[in-house]
Amino acid sequence: MTASDTSILLFDSSDEYRPEPVPEPQAPVWRDGSVRIGIHTSIAGGFAGSLESASKLGCNALQIFSASPRMWPRVGARIAEIDAAEFRARRAELGLGPLVIHANYLINLATSDPVMRVRSIQAYHDEIVRGLALGADYLVVHPGSYAGKTLAQGIGDVGTALRQAARGVRLCAEFGDLRDCRLRLLLENTSGMGMAIGSRFEELKAIMDAAPELPLGICLDTAHAFHAGYEIHTEAGLAQTIAALDRTVGLARVAVLHVNDSKTPFASRVDRHEHIGRGHFGKGHFGKGKSGLEAFRRILNHPSLSASAPGGRAGRAFLLETPIDAPGDDRRNVRRLWDLVDIPVKQAPRAQNGFSMMPRTRRASSAPQRNEKRTNASRKSARASKG
Ligand SMILES: [Zn+2]
Ligand SMILES: [Zn+2]
Repeated sequence: MTASDTSILLFDSSDEYRPEPVPEPQAPVWRDGSVRIGIHTSIAGGFAGSLESASKLGCNALQIFSASPRMWPRVGARIAEIDAAEFRARRAELGLGPLVIHANYLINLATSDPVMRVRSIQAYHDEIVRGLALGADYLVVHPGSYAGKTLAQGIGDVGTALRQAARGVRLCAEFGDLRDCRLRLLLENTSGMGMAIGSRFEELKAIMDAAPELPLGICLDTAHAFHAGYEIHTEAGLAQTIAALDRTVGLARVAVLHVNDSKTPFASRVDRHEHIGRGHFGKGHFGKGKSGLEAFRRILNHPSLSASAPGGRAGRAFLLETPIDAPGDDRRNVRRLWDLVDIPVKQAPRAQNGFSMMPRTRRASSAPQRNEKRTNASRKSARASKG
């Protein structure tokens, strides 16, 4: 090194690091009190592809998996930053929010099997890490099954597992602080199949109490509540269900609703989802007709479940997990929710005519842009088939 080189390296007080003033955090645009509706969207075409699908289906919010949901991902598997950055930028462009990630179905945070427990905690930790990379707002998990122990032990073990999995990651500091955009963790209510924890709201509350330092909230699945015996499909039952939620977890913690009709009867404890207005929400209690749709109209427009003041929670989202039995079922279920919400139709984002995550033909899937060039006549017939 020469003398002139060393002089360049001499310390000058003006070089001293002065951090930029931290800007006051702003609430994200999707927390503006507007109605947020979305559907679980496939990542088969890459992460960014799920955003395009949600947008073409007429959504302004979405749920995805961040890896294959029925396989154990490789431990520590990360999303390449280039893909994550592309995803975050495109999501901002499309104005989609909230972004919800549903955790892998194999995770059981209450398991009695020590090997499975380590695996579950690791996999859930990795879900958090991927959620942070994608800029997700919520990570939804089913609490797990307490086979081989008591319910109280199971609840305690879920709390401990959540705390272990959240070590070393930076989550939202205060669940109720709407300016804090970092990841929050949501527990989903369950149908009560087998020894699944979480079919009673009291159980979800007990898990939240077991990990009080975590930003824990609730994802309320309408079909699961129905399966578990909450009469969410009747007017009086909805009022009772909301009162029960408020008494236990508190309505302010209910950040997301999974809006699903049910293939199985009331209180069946068997988890099968159905298209909105086509399942058991409209059967039994009301006979035939449009009573199923009425049940969802009540849910979507209930002031305590809304996204706006005074009774609602800003940014609360309604997300579908309905089946796609035929091309267009996804788009039609999204449209049905927008039609049931009491807002001017103009607020609903435009869906792309004919778009579906289940393509009509192989040719259509390889050239989706063809759908945009449909004639007015075919557009009209597509609209007529929405019913
Ligand atoms: Zn779920
Ligand atoms: Zn669900």
